[in-house]
Amino acid sequence: MISVEQALILVDTHTKATEKTTTITLPQSLGYVLAKDIVSPINMPPFRQSAMDGYALGSTDEKKFSLVGEVQAGDDQSPTIVKGEAVRIFTGAPVPFGAKAVVMQEKVSINDTQVILQESASINSNIRPEGEQIKKGEVALIKGTVITPAGIGYLATLGITHVEVYQKPSIAVIATGNELIPPGQTLKHGQIYESNSIMLSTALQASGYTHVDCHKVEDNYEATKFLLQNVIAQYDVVLISGGISVGDYDFVGKALRDLEVEEIFYKVKQKPGKPLYFAKKNYTTIFALPGNPASSLSCFYIYALPMIKKISGYAQYKSKLRALISNSEYSKKGQRAEFLKAKVEGEQVTILDGQASSMLRSFALSNVLVYLPEEISEIKVGDPIQIINLA
Ligand code: AMP
Ligand code: MG
Repeated sequence: MISVEQALILVDTHTKATEKTTTITLPQSLGYVLAKDIVSPINMPPFRQSAMDGYALGSTDEKKFSLVGEVQAGDDQSPTIVKGEAVRIFTGAPVPFGAKAVVMQEKVSINDTQVILQESASINSNIRPEGEQIKKGEVALIKGTVITPAGIGYLATLGITHVEVYQKPSIAVIATGNELIPPGQTLKHGQIYESNSIMLSTALQASGYTHVDCHKVEDNYEATKFLLQNVIAQYDVVLISGGISVGDYDFVGKALRDLEVEEIFYKVKQKPGKPLYFAKKNYTTIFALPGNPASSLSCFYIYALPMIKKISGYAQYKSKLRALISNSEYSKKGQRAEFLKAKVEGEQVTILDGQASSMLRSFALSNVLVYLPEEISEIKVGDPIQIINLA
């Protein structure tokens, strides 16, 4: 059995960023990584722009001006003004040719058609120069940038409609187990509701992965092998839940071995999630996550999601540990490293009740996992502890 640290290194070294790119529309590009520098096609702002509602002035060494016109945001004609003249102007409007400054309307008094300043304006004040933010031909965003809502807004200001990005992987999520039925049906004795596939697929969706298909298979060797063979051929990533332990009806390991996948590791010294299995087959990455729901989701956040982000071109894909202060006492029973459902408020971390791997109640209330390495057996109130954010 390998350690958490060894498992993380093995996942990392066996995961390569994709080289496949695709061109998509700007609104679709959220969460994708740019595969090419984006060059600005325009100066931004595209013209000298007023930053205020006020008056554009023909000089900066006078205090009295005659009001000769008005220019509004969106006007396509800018008047030309000379010394002694002022024009009423609004935020975002093109500054008249010859204007030396814009003065806020709060700083002037108007007497009939005269604009009177208390103090003279300084040169170019309240004027956004053409190309102040970026000039035509300059790099707006470099290759490797993760596209955020702000990035989408910024590219929209430059008139960009399409971007070339790295493809996100296609992902199959597979639930195994005879006992599982979909929520909405009535449970018979011995049955439980299938929750892992909806949980994993929505966790993927929350991180921006939408090319996700869920499948379900009974505890049957032939059916398991057939489904796995198909999904391995079709998807970039396969996440299987359950059927990877040592029970007589756990067929995932045998099916994967018989499909001649390259096993990279099986079993990690951790709780929950000991029977975690990681493998590759051609270009497909395979995780068999333990079936217990809290184990499945912990292993997803700790190992699978960083791997998926790395494939998608993220430079920062690793789960980061952050040191905070424990608000709880906890003592570990075994030797394995543990991941505990916990809640962070400010700098304080409360370890929640109900840590069993079969339970999701505490997970539903948690916003972090606490990482207890193998060598730490006890936590006291006030001790520093390491947490991993869930995202
Ligand atoms: P397994 O790893 O298949 O032995 O499953 C371990 C435990 O997790 C069993 O109690 C299963 O019933 C439960 N389990 C497995 N898969 C799921 C699932 N998709 N949804 C809910 N519970 C599951
Ligand atoms: Mg099972």
